[in-house]
Amino acid sequence: MKLPHLLGNERLKEALAALPPSGVGSAVLLDGPAGIGKRTAAADLAAGLLCGKADGPCGVCPACKRAKAGSHPDLIWLKEPEAGKGVKLEQVRELRAQSFLRPSEAPFKVFVIPQADRLNLPSQNALLKVLEEPATSVFVLLCENREAMLQTVRSRCKTFRLAPLSQQELLAALQSRSDAPAEELRQAAANCGGLLGRALDMLSGREKAGQAAARAFCHALSGDELAVWLACQDLTKLTREDYADFCDESCRLLTLTVQKTGDRRCLDIFEYLEKQRSMLIQNPSLTALAGALAAFCGKTV
Ligand SMILES: [Zn+2]
Repeated sequence: MKLPHLLGNERLKEALAALPPSGVGSAVLLDGPAGIGKRTAAADLAAGLLCGKADGPCGVCPACKRAKAGSHPDLIWLKEPEAGKGVKLEQVRELRAQSFLRPSEAPFKVFVIPQADRLNLPSQNALLKVLEEPATSVFVLLCENREAMLQTVRSRCKTFRLAPLSQQELLAALQSRSDAPAEELRQAAANCGGLLGRALDMLSGREKAGQAAARAFCHALSGDELAVWLACQDLTKLTREDYADFCDESCRLLTLTVQKTGDRRCLDIFEYLEKQRSMLIQNPSLTALAGALAAFCGKTV
């Protein structure tokens, strides 16, 4: 099996190259942050399963063409949940009913479940039942946070973790996809954390407010106390959902810094933001959170 449209990720590609479509198993979990290429990988994987050739997808047979056009009867993408909401229980129940039907044309039915980590507990339990039942279906789950999923669900999946791209890979990809000036491309490649989707969002102005705030905050950490305080002030303008994005993205960026430099202060702030992230569920005031974050950063200087 091949993943012809996914950039980089050579180790994952090597692992898959050795597998025929029947060797993929009945559940695959593609794990990685937003913008890393999970949907691209899932589309290739699904096409490969429906194509059925050992080194597929071939890209030219009717099954491949219909998978690409979104019109293959044996390929079902679960509808993405609305912003801030989870996958609905009815959707999982409907998927369960569909998984009992025989495939129309291909050897398998393929179900792609985006944001599987946003399934609530009843939905995860319903999904678990589906995964436990023998069926001629392959489930491709996409997630950003594996830890949010039940261990029992995870253990039934073959997990593939996607890797960020190198600066060189990113620059080459951006040059062929965007006509923005060279300096903007370089900036996007340098600041997207290896995530092509994120770099493209930055170039098109579609970057989420929480992610932009995280970049500004992490940048401010290398400046003086006033810069950090101002970056925290800006956080009070975010919505609750944006603040959750801000925590997630800041933690991701801080992890990269800690891995590179071993900076103790970044590690402390990372742990503090993780705590704030888990407190968000209790609906605290965002002004209080932003203020507390500024004070904490001030103490760690
Ligand atoms: Zn094909």
